[in-house]
Amino acid sequence: MNIPRDSQSQGFEKTRQGMRAFSKFGEIPRLDGKGTRALEAWFLGPKAENADELERLVVEAIRDQAFWRRNFHPGDPTHISEEIKRSPEYLQAMDALKEGYASLLAFLKKSVPFFSMRYQGHMNWDLTIPGILGYFAAMLYNPNNVAFEGSTATTILEILVGDDLCKMLGYSIPTEAEIDNGAIRPWGHITCDGTVANIEAIWSARNLKFYPLALQAALKNEASLAAAKDITVSLATGEIAPLIKLDTWSLLNLKGDDILALPGRLTKEYQIPREAIAQAMSKYSLQNLGIQEFSRQFLSDIPKSPIFFVPGTKHYSFPKAAALLGIGASNMIDVPVDTNARMSISHLEKFLQDCLAEHRPVYTVVAVIGSTEESAIDPIKEVLALREKFRSLGLEFTIHADGAWGGYHASVIREDFDMPEPDAFLAPPPAMPLSRYVTEQFNVLGHADSITVDPHKSGYIPYPAGALCYRNSAMRDLVTFSAPVVFHGDAEPTVGIYGVEGSKPGAAAAAVYLSHRVIRPSKSGYGKIIGAALFSCKKLYARLLCMARPEDPFIVVPVPQLPAEKIALSDINQQIQFIRDRIVGKTNDEIIADHEAIALLRELGPDQNILAYAFNFKTPSGTVNTDLALTNRLNKAIYDRLSINPGEDIYGYDLIVSTTDLHSDQYGKVFIENYKHRLGVSSSADPSITVLRSVVMDPWITETTKGSFLDVLEDEFRKAVYAALEEISPIQTRGY
Ligand SMILES: *Cc1c(COP(=O)(O)O)cnc(C)c1O
Repeated sequence: MNIPRDSQSQGFEKTRQGMRAFSKFGEIPRLDGKGTRALEAWFLGPKAENADELERLVVEAIRDQAFWRRNFHPGDPTHISEEIKRSPEYLQAMDALKEGYASLLAFLKKSVPFFSMRYQGHMNWDLTIPGILGYFAAMLYNPNNVAFEGSTATTILEILVGDDLCKMLGYSIPTEAEIDNGAIRPWGHITCDGTVANIEAIWSARNLKFYPLALQAALKNEASLAAAKDITVSLATGEIAPLIKLDTWSLLNLKGDDILALPGRLTKEYQIPREAIAQAMSKYSLQNLGIQEFSRQFLSDIPKSPIFFVPGTKHYSFPKAAALLGIGASNMIDVPVDTNARMSISHLEKFLQDCLAEHRPVYTVVAVIGSTEESAIDPIKEVLALREKFRSLGLEFTIHADGAWGGYHASVIREDFDMPEPDAFLAPPPAMPLSRYVTEQFNVLGHADSITVDPHKSGYIPYPAGALCYRNSAMRDLVTFSAPVVFHGDAEPTVGIYGVEGSKPGAAAAAVYLSHRVIRPSKSGYGKIIGAALFSCKKLYARLLCMARPEDPFIVVPVPQLPAEKIALSDINQQIQFIRDRIVGKTNDEIIADHEAIALLRELGPDQNILAYAFNFKTPSGTVNTDLALTNRLNKAIYDRLSINPGEDIYGYDLIVSTTDLHSDQYGKVFIENYKHRLGVSSSADPSITVLRSVVMDPWITETTKGSFLDVLEDEFRKAVYAALEEISPIQTRGY
């Protein structure tokens, strides 16, 4: 175990054989073609405008399920006879069901109204209709994607969806001929969520790091591997040497693709059967020995524990991964972020330099592609460049991109793929492009070794649907404990054996499948939804930026800086005036027709569509309050008004947002001090800033039948701020 049993081409031969075996019996569904274009047809809608269509299609799934059941051995007997259906117990049970159902339906109305334009809180909006239908229809069949035999249809869908996600993210799928010639094949699968995907990514990175140590020991000691004793590898520096001669540090710094190719080479070049490799490795692998014994045997000359790096904005799943994998959360190192909440490359470089000097192994560097609180995108292009630099110095690590939130945003710039011919009639309208910086990061995303992406976030698909994609599919073999089963002479297509989970809903794969089929994960599909949501978010940013009038007793400071603030000496006030005149209050069409406005809008606001912001108040003399504790109290008081209290009737809420605290322990001084300065509280020592946060997923808030809904949102914000000011310090605010 802990062994890439196959070279990747052998691994995929199994999947291919499985798909072929399956296709003998009929059509395999496809996931390509041009999809559709109308956003308005993709969602139930804030007023359930598409309820009739959805109802008809849901009923069709139930009817179709009934036909399927009746046609399976139609002559088989039944137990639920008409007579039983008339029995008192039966009737009583049905009555109780209806009663319980009615009360559940009533209770569910206490849920959060994600669909509403007034909901600007967490990562939630409407679900795609194909996502709902795919889930609902497949759920009636209750497939379990843990193994093919429990999911003979939905495993196939998961394989298709895995490839589609890879293509969206920038991993290209080689042809069968290219794979036979050694091209690296990516692979993706559906997980329950982004947390599990991140844990799997760190798990595989950890196992990859230690694999060469175990293999060297097996080569030295196991007679069954004797033929391959002289096998050579390229060192990080380019030199070629026998694996058996390498010292611990060199073994810990081999290139990932070279390590992943080793098992296949043992089979191909030295004719050692895969079973023999597995057998030999079982005595040395980390998975079998456990960290304590493995370290005792192999890491005694490594002075410090291996580590991995994350930005200060990282999601909580990484400390969990570190703890679960025995790495230890204190060996997960926060890299401070810059004033844009993006990982500071100079700090990362310094840390890596220290690791090199101290011979401290690095598992991986995590770049977050859309942080949870502010949708900041780490400079993965520079992380990749740093890896090249350190590779040449003999320090190797993998790069994991956490795109749980932001991975789908790749569709905004992804040219439509798999289209039979370009479709002039249905040309997509211009979506709000991502900023130049963000576009550059997406252009190189395909060089990351693994990428987490959550269909249940920016894919607008029902929970639970996360995903992990590997650039090199052989990575998946590092985290499996069982070999693909060969049945009936044909290999079975397998996906469920790779990773953390056991049973998992095939319905989730069906939901992603149908959604991607109708809404392609490229410019003309998901790119349109997300492009419009980015537009909404940028306009909300502009609106909040310009919201406070001179006579208002407060200021609003969005976390994202203005483009002018990022460039020394440029005129900030002039830029704000431009935004006031040419963006706020203008219709979308007016902005799109204004080249200067659209150019600025592109660079404006957060990297993606999550906006963090805070309010501060003015003292009676008109100056801005300088006490951060009071500022935090104000924002908490605003949040109290704009969030749902347990049990309360949700009809009474006019605007809902979320909140978070930004702490200098994670974010670092540079970011925190810069934001404090902009809030006017730089003299306060408090290390934690409370902000409000809005994830803007709604593509329609700027274009309703009654104009821009931002007018309503601004009014609601103003009301909440005045009420909060009244509550926290009536004396300190000006009379109004
Ligand atoms: C949401 C999120 C996760 C975790 O995903 P879940 O699906 O909630 O488990 C990980 N990373 C980032 C950046 C996220 O936004």
